[in-house]
Amino acid sequence: MTAEPNAAAASADSPAPADFIRDVVASHVAEQRYPAGIVTRFPPEPNGYLHIGHAKSICLNFGIARENRGRCNLRFDDTNPAKEDLEYVRSITADVRWLVAGWAEENLGLKPAAARPAALPGPGGEADFYAAPAPSGTPDAEAFFASDYFEALYAFAERLILAGRAYVCDLSAAEIEAHRGTLDQPGRVSPFRDRPPAENLDLFRRMRAGEFPDGARTLRAKIDMAAPNIWLRDPLLYRIRHVAHHQSGTAWCVYPLYDYAHCLSDYLEGVTHSICTLEFEVHRPLYDWILEALALPLALPRALPRQYEFAKLNLAYTIVSKRRLLQLVQENAVAGWDDPRMPTLAGIRRRGVPAAALRTFVTGLGVTKFDSLTEIAVYENAVRDALNAAAARRLAVLRPVKVVLTNVAGDEVLECRATDNPQDKNPTTRPVALTREVFIESDDFAEVPPPKYFRLKPGGEVRLKYAGIIKLEEIVKDAAGALVELRCTLDRTTRQGEPNSDRKVKGTIHWVSATRCVTAEVRLYDRLFTVPEPAAEPDFLKVLNPRSLEVVTARLEASLATATPDARFQFERLGYFTADPKDSAPDRLVFNRTITLKDTWAK
Ligand code: ATP
Ligand code: MG
Repeated sequence: MTAEPNAAAASADSPAPADFIRDVVASHVAEQRYPAGIVTRFPPEPNGYLHIGHAKSICLNFGIARENRGRCNLRFDDTNPAKEDLEYVRSITADVRWLVAGWAEENLGLKPAAARPAALPGPGGEADFYAAPAPSGTPDAEAFFASDYFEALYAFAERLILAGRAYVCDLSAAEIEAHRGTLDQPGRVSPFRDRPPAENLDLFRRMRAGEFPDGARTLRAKIDMAAPNIWLRDPLLYRIRHVAHHQSGTAWCVYPLYDYAHCLSDYLEGVTHSICTLEFEVHRPLYDWILEALALPLALPRALPRQYEFAKLNLAYTIVSKRRLLQLVQENAVAGWDDPRMPTLAGIRRRGVPAAALRTFVTGLGVTKFDSLTEIAVYENAVRDALNAAAARRLAVLRPVKVVLTNVAGDEVLECRATDNPQDKNPTTRPVALTREVFIESDDFAEVPPPKYFRLKPGGEVRLKYAGIIKLEEIVKDAAGALVELRCTLDRTTRQGEPNSDRKVKGTIHWVSATRCVTAEVRLYDRLFTVPEPAAEPDFLKVLNPRSLEVVTARLEASLATATPDARFQFERLGYFTADPKDSAPDRLVFNRTITLKDTWAK
């Protein structure tokens, strides 16, 4: 992970606005409901890269931990091995660390064995669920994994069985579905619902031992097939899956379902506030039921974790779904998960967005219970604001046209002082060289200028920023009529420190010396989709923006030759840029445009 250049500014993130979850936490702190402190968790499933929506959840969970001097566990919700992968575990770990670095990293929950809850008594003996060593080969020993608890979860399931609160069901997935009923029709009970506990225990142990094929049997909670809430109609707790797991290998062929694993993982980790998105609201009664059916807490009296729900972040022109983002990668619509056009944290980081800008954006949106679509301009402005404060100004020309200053000698070097960042209290300057040959931006010249065109035109004058005023004397073309160069004269009396340095002309343009510059590939990104709600389209791949990437060969002032990917720049008049962390090398510079200076889509 690269260090944030603005790490100092990062710790000064402005406080999050109050919201209903923070209010609840504050009341729990006031009444000392959780004497051991506030514990939250961020629980991604490692089935894809994190996206900007996840940033909201990370900043909420880590933010609450930080504000209450508590901790937030990064926990992989890895109960569905079929779609999960170690690559995702690695990327998610790196992305979370990037987003909280310099801000809430000291609130990241750690997983030393001693910090785990004491061993819990098993149903038939004194199984020590935590005796197993931490999974080896995990990229980040500090991350928690639901799979760490497979043994504990299994033992809890045996307890439920013995208490008559769960049963092994032989119905197929389709039959279970058919028995479930609808919103206005109660479900029908399974013919296996009244199996005696001893038989259930035997069958469940044989499920674990691998005696049955996938789908042959499930473990279900015995709740209420007539419950108005469909999630309480004897939901599945375990299913058989003969598939290897990225953490637990082939140790298991029965895997717990999300609802069962989640509340118990929260409980085992001492989570106090389990914060998730609105679609889980209907699951909350099940979350509570499982903890209550197990008569938790087992040992020390302590308040149980509770679930709270908030509305997802939806962003215009952006897809926030790992499944759909995976499709973009698989269909080669982008160059990978970390393509700088992707709304993944990896893509956003590579594009040059500071973590603090992302935090400011998601936190500033607040936390509500209502779904809404956030304007992309809100995000883009947060990025601009952060970069405006932090980025050093540099001169660069994206589409160069050669200008020859006929009254400057070939070996002459006129030093100019350029301001690094006018936003600084005491702005520093650096030397840039003005030479006989310079490049200007091709659209800063018009042979046949439209009305009110104040840049370079035949016979016209323009200021080269920091250098002085030039006048266009002659346009040189080749035999085919293509532009070769513009021959101009420099008014030396308008140079910095000269008597006419503040003579007024209407246009000021950027430039670089043609003999003292470096060449770079510059990647200009635009929105990936042409419509505000691509996910609402019948086929979101059909509304990809064909111009989301343009590559140009640009000329940059020589000081950029040593730019590293952790440094952000404003190329004057062009936007914010950063060296690409993957592809840029000293002998082959590659820059990404993070964002334009102004919203080019606004009408
Ligand atoms: P996806 O549909 O993209 O896979 P998910 O919700 O299935 O998203 P998880 O890995 O389960 O992805 O998410 C981890 C956490 O992030 C969950 O608590 C989830 O509620 C939260 N989260 C996911 N998407 C968003 C979003 N758009 N805004 C806010 N929080 C989100
Ligand atoms: Mg999910």
